[in-house]
Amino acid sequence: MSKNVRKPFVAGNWKMNGSMSLVADFNEKLASVSAQADIVICSPATLLHGFNNSTFSIGAQNVSHLDNGAHTGELSVEMLKEAGCEYAIVGHSERREDQGESNTLVAQKAKKCVSEGITPIICVGESLDVREAGNVESFVAAQLDAVVEALSVEELSKTVVAYEPIWAIGTGKTASPQQAQEVHEFIRGYFEKVDADLAQGIRILYGGSVKPDNAETLFAQKDVDGGLIGGASLKAEDFISICQAAD
Ligand code: PEP
Repeated sequence: MSKNVRKPFVAGNWKMNGSMSLVADFNEKLASVSAQADIVICSPATLLHGFNNSTFSIGAQNVSHLDNGAHTGELSVEMLKEAGCEYAIVGHSERREDQGESNTLVAQKAKKCVSEGITPIICVGESLDVREAGNVESFVAAQLDAVVEALSVEELSKTVVAYEPIWAIGTGKTASPQQAQEVHEFIRGYFEKVDADLAQGIRILYGGSVKPDNAETLFAQKDVDGGLIGGASLKAEDFISICQAAD
């Protein structure tokens, strides 16, 4: 199976940014966009209700691994689905760092999403220290191990993976297309050992300072199926040109 069978995928992660006027701007400017990629905006939960555009889907930036109940401040898959979400980012490095989310918790969140019908975008990726110590593969493999232990092959096939080197997130420092491809190839090879069809079908996104001027070269890499976009997803024009680069 070649790369062509995997539909390109571009997701915007607005993080703790945005407003209802940005939502309105996206509703308007993305309305006429024709792109082949699956396009998703993961906005803050308070803005989700404002999207009304059928050219893209909406997603959450985090989700609880628990059912509705006494969990102050959390949002369940059931709630996110009711708010229109088809996707949820799980295991973003900012949450792993700021909220101390472990590999196990991230895997539990991914499992909860899949079992209740939304697609998790599972983030993995190393810090600069890990890269400089030459441990990228073992680090990323440990993050994936937890997910593979928790989800069946069928469940894994309903996920999207995002490789996001921490040193490239929000720093303006992008992984070179070769650096991105190397890790993407490693991740696909990792899934190959789990199940060959899974490895060929699963979409692996690159995230880390993707911009309109570097998106096309990154997305052209054999195992890069699109991107998870932070800063550049806050400007409709930039985000649109990145989505078109994925075609
Ligand atoms: C991200 O936070 O997922 C991200 C990739 O951010 P940026 O594009 O700003 O580096």
